[in-house]
Amino acid sequence: MIPAGIIHQKNNFYTARIVGNCGEFSAQELIAIAQIASTYGNGKITATSRGTIEIEQISPDNIESMLAEIKAHNLRLGGTGTTVRAIVSCKGTTCTKGLYDVHALATELDDLFYGQIVPKKLKIGVFGCINSLGKAKSQDIGIMPSFKNPHKFEIYIGGLLGNSPVYGQHIDIALNKEQLICAIKFIIEIYQKNGKYPQRLRKVLDTNPNLWQEITDYLTKLIQK
Ligand code: SF4
Repeated sequence: MIPAGIIHQKNNFYTARIVGNCGEFSAQELIAIAQIASTYGNGKITATSRGTIEIEQISPDNIESMLAEIKAHNLRLGGTGTTVRAIVSCKGTTCTKGLYDVHALATELDDLFYGQIVPKKLKIGVFGCINSLGKAKSQDIGIMPSFKNPHKFEIYIGGLLGNSPVYGQHIDIALNKEQLICAIKFIIEIYQKNGKYPQRLRKVLDTNPNLWQEITDYLTKLIQK
């Protein structure tokens, strides 16, 4: 069985996807990845749109040794399968336009939700200002700062790219961090309970419109507590 993070490619080669710390890698990790790519792949590394890194063109004979090397360097292999995928974070922690510590929030969400099993896959993105509104709207759960309520967050639910792109729906309720975490947990649970492979969150919600209402009701109650 192919482990999580290993992707079968053309001509019977494999790619290994390494998940960093919400898009961040240490210099030492990058050196180790470069060495692994040179030893077991074709010496090339690809950066993905979700801030992961892929080691390319690994032959089947090299998989076992490469996996041992990845483990030895404490690298995180993953970001594939029917799971909550790598949490995306913009540069809002250091970017002058960032309205809060985006990376800190993203790593907290990564600790809580990354790798959870879901019907197909679920993408969470955390963004620091209006410049990434389009990106927030293209996540299953996109998080933006609230512009009406400083220090709070707003979410976009059900965005999709792929072959049927659609913007996520904005839920116009400002949440503090604890409420945001409860909201994400609730939405993932709804997806897990009601979705069937290969349905994405949006499909599940649109085929059961009462679930949209359930989410709105939950968030409304959450902020009244
Ligand atoms: S979305 Fe805003 S805060 Fe984040 S990197 Fe872009 S400009 Fe900076």
